[in-house]
Amino acid sequence: MAQTADLKVEKLFSVKGYVCVITGGGSGIGLMAAQALAANGAKVYITGRRMEALEKAAEFHDPEEGGSIIPLGPCDVTKKDDLAKIYDDLSKKEKYINLLVCAAGISGAKAEPDEESATSLKEKLWNNETFEQWNETYNTDVTSVYFTTVAFLPLLQAGTDAHGHLSASVIVISSMSGIMRHAQGHFSYNAAKGGTVHLTKLMSAEFQKTRVRVNSIAPGYFPSEMTAKQSGADMKSELPDEKIQEKGHVPAMRAGSDEEMAQAVLFLTKNAYVNGEILAVDGGVLNVVSGR
Ligand code: NDP
Repeated sequence: MAQTADLKVEKLFSVKGYVCVITGGGSGIGLMAAQALAANGAKVYITGRRMEALEKAAEFHDPEEGGSIIPLGPCDVTKKDDLAKIYDDLSKKEKYINLLVCAAGISGAKAEPDEESATSLKEKLWNNETFEQWNETYNTDVTSVYFTTVAFLPLLQAGTDAHGHLSASVIVISSMSGIMRHAQGHFSYNAAKGGTVHLTKLMSAEFQKTRVRVNSIAPGYFPSEMTAKQSGADMKSELPDEKIQEKGHVPAMRAGSDEEMAQAVLFLTKNAYVNGEILAVDGGVLNVVSGR
């Protein structure tokens, strides 16, 4: 039974001694997760295709603030050889990991389905996107999440052995886009993210026997290279309120913050009783855009 002092935030959400791996950790939501975990004591390996982005992101972390952020890679998560290489490199340095965050993702090709004439709609959707583009989006946003998680299972299971039953977990960054009945101008991304959401549920159920939990965060609009189209010298991005307000479907009237993403990441990392959950952190969008 817990004493009141056992329920202080520092105890509930400390990740001191945790070893974490984050794909897409050099910018946007992956970097927010890396900062949240490092700030609370974790050793965080970030990976991605651009080594200089990872190095820049790591450079801006002040070890005085706690934990550490360490570049690992380069790694293209759509390539098995790259995943196998970072797994081998990491296995030489660490006996286990406690958390894998799959944040690498792309938004894919766009074609706004805003025509009322079927002929015009057909022309636009037919000509603006290709099978190859759809496959690239699916590969990055779904298939790579599967193979990344599969690749890291042994180190994750070792984490559970070291820290207790179901303590090690995977957080998949899916999207509210995979839940809503609104294409947002990119059918391929939203269909892929629907796959990411379902993949999370499947892996959570099927990998339970390995004692590794799998959950997902389905973010709304957060500042990143994907949404803001750029990042600064510190790899961080900004998304002005007006950009969110003009979408007309965001009750919060602003983008999500680093703090709000950090709270979601720490919750799923530390609460070992949550498994198979899709946690929408979306400023209320799914309250106003149909999700069923
Ligand atoms: P960013 O573009 O800032 O981050 C994506 C990261 O993924 C980049 O750092 C990129 O690094 C990496 N990445 C992309 N493709 C690959 C690849 N093939 N191999 C390895 N790394 C790759 O955007 P976000 O932070 O927004 O995106 C993170 C996740 O959050 C994505 O899955 C996205 O779909 C999801 N999301 C984002 C939302 C938002 O509003 N920002 C909303 C809902 C979901 P590099 O190019 O160096 O490889």
